[in-house]
Amino acid sequence: MEKKSLLKKSNFSDYLKPSQVAFNLKAKDKVQAIEEILDILIKQKLVKNKKLLLTRVIDRERLESTAIGHNVALPHARVDTGGDLSIGVGRSKGGIDFDAIDNKKVHLVILIIWNPSIPGLFNHLFAGLAQYLSKSGFRNRLFSAKNKSDLFNILSEIELTLPREDKIISRASLLMKLQKIEVKKRKAKKEQLKDLRKHADLIREELDEVLVDRFDRLVNRYGFAVAEVEGGACQGCNINIATGMSAAIEGSNDIYICENCGKFLVAAKKKKK
Ligand SMILES: [Zn+2]
Repeated sequence: MEKKSLLKKSNFSDYLKPSQVAFNLKAKDKVQAIEEILDILIKQKLVKNKKLLLTRVIDRERLESTAIGHNVALPHARVDTGGDLSIGVGRSKGGIDFDAIDNKKVHLVILIIWNPSIPGLFNHLFAGLAQYLSKSGFRNRLFSAKNKSDLFNILSEIELTLPREDKIISRASLLMKLQKIEVKKRKAKKEQLKDLRKHADLIREELDEVLVDRFDRLVNRYGFAVAEVEGGACQGCNINIATGMSAAIEGSNDIYICENCGKFLVAAKKKKK
């Protein structure tokens, strides 16, 4: 029961204290940046086994950069460190090369270590963060914070409440629709292309910038960005996903991400009986 209530916590600051924020990272590259933030979490006794954590975060980073564009990166690892969730934030004035899709240097690094026993936790957090970080006004305020407490206060405004049900449904299904259009575009004749592009643009306008950026990155890399969940397995990589998460996807239509292949997950359409 305790674990379930964790998902209902509604503020980013429930997971973040000022002591977990580094206002001026010394790091010059992404490995150093991740290590510097990890050191803070170690010092605060929020995590232990730095070597394992660093390896896991870097491995995940090599799979696909967690720089979500617009100068922000969300490196993360799913490791049982005893706690539920540990977050550290680092700001880099000069910026760090994170192999971001938009080639922009990263000025804000949010490191997330979460416990695999709480399915859906990362997705819940990611959705909340993405919602705020996709707004340029909010990002500009973060980047122009004058000091650590200023930065912490702005980060504390992030709410992790789930989007309204109608919005939830449209987001996941819109991503799936967008994928179908992108696939059609590959074989489309010239006269069809104009319409397909128009439809795709309409969907793109409705979705958060961060979601669309991530979608495009996955399509460029794998040809697909959205995978259905069928029989408890991600159809993108055929790996079983956590039972709890599978059930959560079935029940809602929120944006979930496969913890193995990184694709967006949607519930498979129920077959008509
Ligand atoms: Zn997968």
